[in-house]
Amino acid sequence: MEMAYPRIIIDTNKILHNVRIVVEIAKKNGITVAGVTKGFCAHKEIVKAYIEGGVKYLADSRINNLMRLEEFAIPKIFTRLPMLTEVKDVIRYSNYSLNSEFITMKALSNEALKQDKVHGVIIMIDLGDLREGYFKEDEVYSVAKKLSELKGIYIAGIGTNLTCYGGLIPNKELIKRLVNIGKNIEDLLKIKLEIISGGNSSSIHLLKSNKLDGVNNLRLGESLMCGTESAFGERIPGTYNDAFTLEAEIIEIKNKPSVPVGEIGKDAFGNIPSFIDRGIRKRIICAVGKQDIDYNTIFPIDDDLIILGGSSDHLILDGSDSKIDYKIGDRIKFNMHYVSILRAMTSEYIEKIIL
Ligand SMILES: *Cc1c(COP(=O)(O)O)cnc(C)c1O
Repeated sequence: MEMAYPRIIIDTNKILHNVRIVVEIAKKNGITVAGVTKGFCAHKEIVKAYIEGGVKYLADSRINNLMRLEEFAIPKIFTRLPMLTEVKDVIRYSNYSLNSEFITMKALSNEALKQDKVHGVIIMIDLGDLREGYFKEDEVYSVAKKLSELKGIYIAGIGTNLTCYGGLIPNKELIKRLVNIGKNIEDLLKIKLEIISGGNSSSIHLLKSNKLDGVNNLRLGESLMCGTESAFGERIPGTYNDAFTLEAEIIEIKNKPSVPVGEIGKDAFGNIPSFIDRGIRKRIICAVGKQDIDYNTIFPIDDDLIILGGSSDHLILDGSDSKIDYKIGDRIKFNMHYVSILRAMTSEYIEKIIL
């Protein structure tokens, strides 16, 4: 096989192991897992590890990705609030969607009737993170009432999203508020909600201490892929954090000053850079850039290498302290965190190798 670089190597066995561990912890708390697939563009081989590992739902924010999931016979959740212009596809490719606008849910209902389906809406509640969802509680109840009159949809549940925009960390009180809103809807409409979805990988830390009482679902991506909870960035015991590895090829090695020579203007992304003067250093350039990864979320496995920065197509490292005598054409390996995985999986310039 012709080797193409940069490439990302994905160990699906490690992902399967992570999924099993997280699904098991969740299960002990009466919680089902919706496996979020957007972080790896719903790549089928990885999706199989999610399913084998025991996720109950698949969830994604992009229609293109949901289309890739069509062959898997497991319920699907559309996780971004639907655009009015994609309602037809939302109904076609998902069983549930997260929602916070009546006009959109009405459009979903009309489309579902046309497609002879009944679609589950999950009403989003904003507990203060200030991304999506109803902020005022009485608005939730009045919309729930209006929704109960629509024939193409049913209220499948409620959900919240935390630590995404505002950085709000989930706690027992916030979860209690969510659960309570669910109970009120059940009383108001004399229905039983199927899904009380208590957030994403930032809610994992609450599992340890039984603080998710009343929640029966989490929508998880990062924790399954990287083995980390995202409120504090801690590892989940027993999981792997190296299921995704980046390999980039060296295209230049030269000794150069560590501070640019001459007047400093803006860099390629409009920021004025600043530098630490370490004297003359051995600088290594790899052929990978911001179009493919985010260099704040890749970490050289040779930890004597220092990432200095980069541009669209170049990653610059300081190799002076490394014990390895790198040569042109060698490949440098990096551990990856969520944002870089997301970007690398989306980049058509990165070869994907699935183990
Ligand atoms: C992306 C996303 C998730 C998954 O978040 P992780 O932090 O990767 O677990 C959950 N819910 C919604 C609405 C999302 O958009």
